[in-house]
This record gives sequence, structure tokens and C-alpha cells, in this order.
Amino acid sequence: MTQTRELVDWSYEQKCQKAVESLGKNGFTSLYCKTAHEAFEYIVKEADVAETVGLGGSMSLAGLKVADRLREMGKELLIHGTPGLTLEERQGIMRRQLTCDLFLTGTNAVTLSGALINIDANGNRVGPMFFGPKKVIVVAGRNKLVDGDTGAAVKRVKEWAAPANARRLKLNTPCAKTGFCSDCNSPDRVCRITTVLERKPRMTDVRVLVVNEVMGL
Ligand code: SF4
Repeated sequence: MTQTRELVDWSYEQKCQKAVESLGKNGFTSLYCKTAHEAFEYIVKEADVAETVGLGGSMSLAGLKVADRLREMGKELLIHGTPGLTLEERQGIMRRQLTCDLFLTGTNAVTLSGALINIDANGNRVGPMFFGPKKVIVVAGRNKLVDGDTGAAVKRVKEWAAPANARRLKLNTPCAKTGFCSDCNSPDRVCRITTVLERKPRMTDVRVLVVNEVMGL
């Protein structure tokens, strides 16, 4: 490892640890993971008692490839993005995700003061983050950290995640073509619901894994 890489990792570790500390103060169970593999192992261990596991359509989770392991463990996976599903089938899975045993998701941003900020189009990804599933595990790569307030976090999402996601999903939004947000009024607009989890939702067991690696968008 080069010295530069070592210093970058060290610098990010301090920020990750700060976020973990703040999330803990805000009532979340939060854990620092040096690597994505540590997050993978944590999820597998926590999934042991779950029968149904919902996945919230996250690039961070896709990168972890945790679904394959959970399937091998005999878990019933609720994945609405499975190719070939009808709209009705997709919606049915989304509804079941709301009451699954374990819901896995990424997040669009985590502030160093310990809040989770997300922007969603349907609400099926953000809804189960705060009520419904017995347990929620949020995976956040170091690229999701924001040293600022909710406004700064929203700015990050609209500058980076939303345009890239719109392009990934082949949506007809201006940002999918230009890479810049123009606060569009497109029927395909993905930015419809903004959620801020300032504290752990009272009745939901939410765990946040802060990983010192780049994960997702
Ligand atoms: S508001 Fe529209 S243009 Fe801006 S990021 Fe969202 S979908 Fe893209």
C-alpha cells in the first residue's frame, strides 16, 4: 500500500468513526467496518434468525453480493428488481418488504452528526427504513459521508447519486443526460420523497454499518 493510500484510508477512518459515534448518540446501533467484507459478515450473522430478507435496491448491497450467500442459507429473499417481474409482482414484493424480518439497504448520505438522508421516487426503499421490518441494516460506504447539515446532504445526493441512478435506470430526466440536476418536472423524476432520520425511529431496530471503502453511488 502506498503512503498516500494509507493516509487517505486513515483520514476516512477518522470521519467514519466520527459518524459512528454520532449515530450511536442518536440511538442507532452503529459499527465501523474497515472493509466491505466485514459488513458482509455482519449481515450474514444478523440474518441467521431471519426467515424473510428484503433488499432495498441498493448499489452498495449489489456490490457486497450478499444476496447469493443469503439464498444459500435458505432465506426467502424479497427483491423487487428481479428481471422479468410484472409491475403487479414488483409492487407485491415491495409491500412484503415493509414487514420482512430483516431489511437491507444502502443510504444516499450520512452526516457526521449522525443523520441518514435519502431521496426516493416510490418510497419503497425509505419506508421500511423507519417502520415495519423487525430489523434494518443500513450499509454506508465512506463516499456517503457528509460533513455538513441536511441541506449539504441533499446537495450531495442531487449532485451525484440521483443523476447517476437516473442514468443507470435509463430514465428520461435531464440529469441522466447532462449529469447535473435542474430540479426537473419530468414524469421520470426520481427526487420525490426526501427523508431525514435524525434519531433512531422509536420502534425499529436500525443498525448502520459505516464502511471505510467506496460503496455504491
Ligand atoms: S430533480 Fe430531476 S434533474 Fe434533479 S436530480 Fe432529481 S431527477 Fe435529476
